[in-house]
Amino acid sequence: GSRRVLVTGCSSGIGLSVAARLAKDELGRFKVVATMRDLEKRGALEKAAGDALNQTLEIKELDVCSEASIKECVNSLPDRRVDVLVNNAGVGMIGPLECQSTAAVKEIFDTNFFGLVRLVKEVLPDMKRRQSGHIVVMSSVMGIQGLLFNDVYSASKFAVEGFCESLAVQAMKFNIKTTLVEPGPVVTEFERKLYELAETMDLSKTDEETAKIFREMYLPYSKKIFTSLGQSPEEVSEQTFKLITTKDPPLRHQTNRLYTPMTALKHADPTGRLPLDTFYKMVFKHDRVFNATYLFVRLPYWKITELM
Ligand code: NAD
Repeated sequence: GSRRVLVTGCSSGIGLSVAARLAKDELGRFKVVATMRDLEKRGALEKAAGDALNQTLEIKELDVCSEASIKECVNSLPDRRVDVLVNNAGVGMIGPLECQSTAAVKEIFDTNFFGLVRLVKEVLPDMKRRQSGHIVVMSSVMGIQGLLFNDVYSASKFAVEGFCESLAVQAMKFNIKTTLVEPGPVVTEFERKLYELAETMDLSKTDEETAKIFREMYLPYSKKIFTSLGQSPEEVSEQTFKLITTKDPPLRHQTNRLYTPMTALKHADPTGRLPLDTFYKMVFKHDRVFNATYLFVRLPYWKITELM
């Protein structure tokens, strides 16, 4: 029989692409339950699914911030069976901390972290009973290494990483696999929404210097990184597809090998000085920050120390 995969956040970006890719599997191994918060946004997914729509892919409503919505969706599935959970729904946040309300910070965690917790609570007991399953989670390289002006987003992904790392051991005992997918920048709605929010942010809530660093250094740099190094959602979904179809999937998978040096820094130095100094120098000490950063992520792993 085919494996049932439940994917969250399928109205755009990586979730849409993962759902369509699995539904179009040449070997027809999957029945995809592609979920989204707002069914009115189903158009793009329907188009991407093509002939697979209502064959190997069905669209259902699911808001990861609502336990009732999650329950209703899972209860509607035959035997409530979810063989693979792809926890993808997520939201970003950039900018100086003083410019974010605590309520907005909590909303990021409500989606990125508590959304995952709610879904796992709903599907894990059944997976344990069946002694099989795979929990696949869209994390980020920022789940391993924090980045300037991404404090809250990064913290929410660290939470996701800690949660999965801990749970994976217990899950393994029940033959359930856990995989954290860690993309670098991906060109999706995510990016567009972030810059849109940044434009309307009230920077008068922080000091002039911080506002200037954010506006004149961070934003142009970040946009440049997205255009030069950003992957397509299809690149990420193809790799996610492989992680789901492989016999022995890893706990962690970085989709963009250019980011391996960045995340390797902290493992190379338990005191944390190496990554801290590197990021500080990269951002504040180089005249040509953008070029230095660009170079940095392109450097092979072993060349890293030459930058210190
Ligand atoms: P996206 O904005 O295109 O997709 C995110 C989806 O999540 C959207 O469809 C959105 O509607 C949905 N969503 C938000 N809140 C929801 C809720 N409460 N319930 C259900 N769905 C909800 O962006 P994306 O890049 O495809 O992001 C997907 C995942 O990948 C996120 O977890 C994100 O953190 C992660 N990620 C993205 C990037 C990137 O650069 N784009 C990099 C690393 C990781």
